[in-house]
Amino acid sequence: MPLYDYHCPDCGHRFEEFRPMAERDHAPCPKCGKEADKQLSGFFSPRSTSSSSTPPPCGGGGLPGG
Ligand SMILES: [Zn+2]
Repeated sequence: MPLYDYHCPDCGHRFEEFRPMAERDHAPCPKCGKEADKQLSGFFSPRSTSSSSTPPPCGGGGLPGG
């Protein structure tokens, strides 16, 4: 699960919490128990540059004598 930043509007406490994608919008405040709002953090993923993908090295082993 990804880590999100939350800010509690009630007590002003800020914290980070691992939340599932379905419940990432809000998280319970660890201080007062209120529902904190998710803060925008540097989780933005800019355009990924095209990179050449190379296949993983496949090591072929010789068959055992038999
Ligand atoms: Zn709070």
